[in-house]
Amino acid sequence: MTGRNLIGVETGVLLDLRSLSSVSIAEDKASAIVGAGILTRDLASTITAAGLFTPIGWHPMVGYAGWAMGGGYGMFSSAYGLGVDQILGARLVTADGSIIDVDETSHPDLLWAIRGAGNGIWGVVTQLKIKIYPQPKLLIGTLQYQKEDWPLVMMDWAERFEANLPIEFAGDIYLRNPTIDRPEMTFFFAWCAKPGEDIELGYEFLDRMRSLPGSATERISEVDLASFLRSIPSAQSAPVHLRGVITTGLTKAVASVLNRQWNEPRPLYMGIPSHFAHGQAVQPNPKACFPLRYPHRLFPLVCSHPDMLKDKYFESAVTAMADRVVRELKDTTDVLEGVSYGSLIPAIDTEITATFGTEALNRLRALKALYDPTGLFSGGYPALDRTT
Ligand SMILES: Cc1cc2nc3c(=O)[nH]c(=O)nc-3n(C[C@H](O)[C@H](O)[C@H](O)COP(=O)(O)OP(=O)(O)OC[C@H]3O[C@@H](n4cnc5c(N)ncnc54)[C@H](O)[C@@H]3O)c2cc1C
Repeated sequence: MTGRNLIGVETGVLLDLRSLSSVSIAEDKASAIVGAGILTRDLASTITAAGLFTPIGWHPMVGYAGWAMGGGYGMFSSAYGLGVDQILGARLVTADGSIIDVDETSHPDLLWAIRGAGNGIWGVVTQLKIKIYPQPKLLIGTLQYQKEDWPLVMMDWAERFEANLPIEFAGDIYLRNPTIDRPEMTFFFAWCAKPGEDIELGYEFLDRMRSLPGSATERISEVDLASFLRSIPSAQSAPVHLRGVITTGLTKAVASVLNRQWNEPRPLYMGIPSHFAHGQAVQPNPKACFPLRYPHRLFPLVCSHPDMLKDKYFESAVTAMADRVVRELKDTTDVLEGVSYGSLIPAIDTEITATFGTEALNRLRALKALYDPTGLFSGGYPALDRTT
């Protein structure tokens, strides 16, 4: 069973909340109450139509609540903070059937917990109150590089860009082979002008990126968020084998592992999105339990083959490929071992203590004992009963 959660659940009940998709914007236009089943696409189009903005993830069909409560990375997190930083309050149905409102004054401990450990372990969230902003000027789109240029582009990026990215620019990258002979490396270019600033700085930064080696196919323009999301094709549902690591960044060592993976044409799909957390995304927020508040780059490895579930050969080939890439990445000294992001990296590559730290983990466990003493909500994440 699975929703958009890449990890899925093997037993239990999956609730389809997509009919909870209302958006009610406050009069001061600084917040909105959204139904907790709303998809990113629908939230973006309602907010954009009102001339407003809120940060979201890459994909139009991902559930906003699942994205935001788990962490919430995306093209705007360096400028506006993560999804967890947007949550002002929530309404949820708890294990004993109560409906509770959670905010800074009512159950503030639970508000802290759902900001980073909120996915399906406290109750069913029916609505979220989130921050809304005036619409920024956006320069947004993609730069795509040919495979032969990847090594030089990535090395140059690691040397000149990675450590000094402006907060208006997230720096997310996607490597994948949608067809066997045509691997793609895509930079998501999303420049969010600061309030009152012009978009010119974005064009200047785009010019700097044009100094990377090789020639990129550019699809970049001044569009609003909803129009950009409409241009992203919807991912097809397919069985995937998921692994992943978090690194200190796109270092030269990490880049050379990634480059090696596409030297041969491969009959298996491998998609490696990477979110880069810097700027506002790594500002400490003691009111959120989300722990990864230091610069890092997230590399989920999504591997699959259409016949993976029917054929043991493909299943083991996919598993072996993912194992090898993770091992090679871990052999660099740039992986933050065990540190994880539950929404995109599976338990096998995770140590819950390395991720949350003992103090936060003890606090989360005490809250779990209070709000869900019988463990009714056991299929979400993080799995607080794990010891590693
Ligand atoms: C194609 C794709 C693109 C993605 N892109 C990004 C990205 O750009 N940035 C990023 O950070 N992540 C990204 N993710 C990961 C995504 O954030 C997680 O998969 C997230 O959990 C999806 O939430 P969902 O509600 O769609 O999925 P679901 O499978 O429905 O839910 C995921 C988990 O959240 C819990 N949950 C969801 N809604 C509620 C609720 N209302 N109340 C209580 N628990 C709830 C569920 O119980 C489950 O444990 C992507 C995933 C996919 C498949």
